[in-house]
Amino acid sequence: MRAMILEKPGVPLQLLKKPDPIPGPGQVLVKISACGVCRTDLHVVDGDLPEPKLPIIPGHEIVGRVAGLGEGVDHFKLGERVGIPWLGSTCGRCSYCKSGTENLCDEPGFTGYQIDGGYADITVADARFCFPISADYPDAELAPWLCAGLIGYRSLSMVGKKSGRIGIYGFGAAAHIVTQVARYQNREVYAFTSPGDRAAQEFALEMGAIWAGDSDRAPPDELDAAIIFAPVGSLVPAALRSVRKGGVVVCGGIHMSDIPGFPYQLRWGERVLRSVANLTRQDAKDFLELAPRVPIRTRIEEFALEDANLALEALRSGNLTGAAVLIP
Ligand SMILES: [Zn+2]
Ligand SMILES: [Zn+2]
Repeated sequence: MRAMILEKPGVPLQLLKKPDPIPGPGQVLVKISACGVCRTDLHVVDGDLPEPKLPIIPGHEIVGRVAGLGEGVDHFKLGERVGIPWLGSTCGRCSYCKSGTENLCDEPGFTGYQIDGGYADITVADARFCFPISADYPDAELAPWLCAGLIGYRSLSMVGKKSGRIGIYGFGAAAHIVTQVARYQNREVYAFTSPGDRAAQEFALEMGAIWAGDSDRAPPDELDAAIIFAPVGSLVPAALRSVRKGGVVVCGGIHMSDIPGFPYQLRWGERVLRSVANLTRQDAKDFLELAPRVPIRTRIEEFALEDANLALEALRSGNLTGAAVLIP
């Protein structure tokens, strides 16, 4: 197999060649055809997230085909297309697992963080956490569905059904998918980007936002809710300022810079501030069923597997419109 591997945070990924993995009991062997590059990968590579398994193969937006079945796996066929997401294992015993919130499991394993991921041409995964993908799309366009789509969808579901006007802060891979879902649900999207980022603002309007502007500006209308995808803590008070009484602000990223102090007045009026952590398998089933009906179109930029460092740098510097996808 070929893989781009992280030896330790802060240094570039290295190309590694080694024998193919063998699927253990309950696992599938998956020949990878595409793997999306998520901002969380950047946080792993840069050392923003604690205690990754090292060395680690990053990547948790994996699309590929089943190339081998471990003992006891009978619900996949050889050659079947599957997706492998961020949630790679759960304990199945803790109170969260038992109450339908496995995304909060006390002992989870995350793909590309504790479990080797998709910056490779082949991988093994726990079959219980893989999903068949039958939607008629090219593999590379499906890759961003596996995290940007799933976590974005979970974030959108947290704003409540009655929220018609939604602000989205940070317009990248997740935002461009969420905007399409929100439009499908007859909601209005107001997109906020880094001040002066006209390219991102035009992209947002193209994806169906009814307004796009700088994140330091107030929206033209009072919002019912806001979702923050950019890892920038100062956007929290800005978003709270933009939502109405009783409105919801959802932080959709796994990592954020510190949130500055702000007057209690911004929380007053029963405004809710919450985060979204990880995903459940039910989120994945729901989103994979919904996405082709929208139908979601993903804007991608393809990179060769060996160019993973270039893809990460493009994401870091904001030089991407849409989502980077590695092709082995
Ligand atoms: Zn658990
Ligand atoms: Zn992700």
